[in-house]
Amino acid sequence: MSQSKLTDRFGRTVNYVRLSVTDRCDFRCVYCMAEEMTFLPRQQVLTLEEIARIARTFVSLGTEKIRLTGGEPLVRKDIIELVREIGTYGLRDFAMTTNGSQLTTMAEPLRKAGLKRLNISLDSLDPIKFASITRTGKLSRVLEGIDAAREAGFKGIKLNTVVMKGGNDHEVPDLIEFARKKNVDITFIEEMPLGEISEHDRGKALCTSDEVRDIVRQHHELIPTPEDSGGPARYYRMSDSPIKVGFISPHSHNFCSTCNRVRVTVEGRLLLCLGNEHSVDLRRVLRGYPVTDDKLRQTIIDSMDLKPERHHFSTNGDVQILRFMNMTGG
Ligand code: SAM
Ligand code: SF4
Repeated sequence: MSQSKLTDRFGRTVNYVRLSVTDRCDFRCVYCMAEEMTFLPRQQVLTLEEIARIARTFVSLGTEKIRLTGGEPLVRKDIIELVREIGTYGLRDFAMTTNGSQLTTMAEPLRKAGLKRLNISLDSLDPIKFASITRTGKLSRVLEGIDAAREAGFKGIKLNTVVMKGGNDHEVPDLIEFARKKNVDITFIEEMPLGEISEHDRGKALCTSDEVRDIVRQHHELIPTPEDSGGPARYYRMSDSPIKVGFISPHSHNFCSTCNRVRVTVEGRLLLCLGNEHSVDLRRVLRGYPVTDDKLRQTIIDSMDLKPERHHFSTNGDVQILRFMNMTGG
């Protein structure tokens, strides 16, 4: 695999790209979206060919890992085609983050199309709580989806849980038992202040990774491991289970110094940082005339100079970034 040609002003090498393939979703999770959302008109959304071209260009610049996300990637109709195309690029890692609602029918086609790993979001094992967090989601479908992913032969399945104090923090032990039983990894995430929400006060709902670790430790000893996925999660193991337990702590543990990633929104905005507005419009390059691969490559290389040193999320619950996570690409 070629060495990454993407290095920023702080000496960080970028070799991981998260591509958002849609801003739409069949859920309306309270921390991610408002109840009433206006989604992008079709002409503003990148076509499958445009997304693939961006992916190919990043790979030619040394990208080794691509994650497809959204919105909910599985609501995009041509998603299998896109996975099949990107699956031919020889990536070291090719993953997707999904809410799991369509995995009963999609897990096997995704696996066959070349997807290597799945992250599945799961914030509650209580059907009523699950419905209130996701507003439109049905727990049983997601649980069946997780089983379908295991049956389809996905090895690196990971659950993602956003922990909210007074919301689902009491379910942390049950979620750990569930992950152990299903033999899948689980990562607990601190809520980030992306987009304005009215359901809860993000400042008050923040449950730090330290607090979640303390809850888990009441039931299991957690053994720190140096393993990392090249990302912001810190991992632990348990002596009596093969699964990994991860913690992503944008508030309590700043992970910016080792950041190796950028994001591309479904409008083709290249975001250099999750917690900042710095971006470059790749769609304009793609739809300009003449479009050349060299021009796209050079735009991406030049954009590295805009990557900020770090994000500055605060814990007072204020919105710091106006775009919602479904626009950012989680
Ligand atoms: N729809 C897919 C899903 O839910 O997995 C993929 C997109 S979603 C935006 C990606 C991840 O971001 C999910 O695990 C979700 O829980 C997380 N997320 C969304 N909004 C967040 C926020 N404000 N803070 C922290 N995590 C958030
Ligand atoms: Fe949809 Fe994922 Fe956002 Fe929930 S977190 S509303 S499933 S995009």
